[in-house]
Amino acid sequence: MYLVIIAIIVGIVLLAWLCYGPIPTIVYKYLKNNRCSEEKEILLTFDDGPDAVYTQQLLNVLEEADIEAIFFLLGQKVQKYPSVAKKIVQQQHRVGLHGSAHENMWFLTPKKTKESIEKGMAQLRDNNMHPNFYRPPYGNINLFTLKYARKQGLKALWWTAIVGDWKKTESTELVERLNHRLTPGMVVVLHDSAEDTGGQQGSAQMMIKALEQWIPLVRQQGYRFIKPSERESE
Ligand SMILES: [Zn+2]
Repeated sequence: MYLVIIAIIVGIVLLAWLCYGPIPTIVYKYLKNNRCSEEKEILLTFDDGPDAVYTQQLLNVLEEADIEAIFFLLGQKVQKYPSVAKKIVQQQHRVGLHGSAHENMWFLTPKKTKESIEKGMAQLRDNNMHPNFYRPPYGNINLFTLKYARKQGLKALWWTAIVGDWKKTESTELVERLNHRLTPGMVVVLHDSAEDTGGQQGSAQMMIKALEQWIPLVRQQGYRFIKPSERESE
């Protein structure tokens, strides 16, 4: 009898948790249309920075290719590398909030969710950054995440293409994966980070190399890279 009661309680708790985190996430991450347009257009986004080494290398590639992107930054890392963060803004890129630390919203209470977003915003504002976009770490939300993001004037943005670039992968393989996911309105998420946020050593180096190879390839196919400001005007 006790076992049945325990099983029922566990079942109710599990169901409540599914409704709190995983189910809202599935709706926004997979069921919603996350494309940036219906045209042959691509929006580049980079998560988990700024990084002491890789962000500058990435900025050089983007400058050379005349592309503006969105950098979803972690407040803690902005505090750690303020001069790198400043360069992102100076180069006309948009910054978005990726939280203060890289926390999974499925395991945060509503109070902690609010604190995490507010803390991240304060850390960015301390460095003269005023983001309009928000991307939850892992793309995972809970029932309260979007409410608190909206209160800070943030619009949540997911992606249509994720290629596992945080694991060290040959650049040719990454190019193949990106090509495989190429669709009109593609929103790409890549990671300019190192081991401190879960990336494998040297993975960002490969990502940057792959990006350099991929940009001319898609342009040859008639695709153009849209500016984040074009997305903002919606
Ligand atoms: Zn992330």
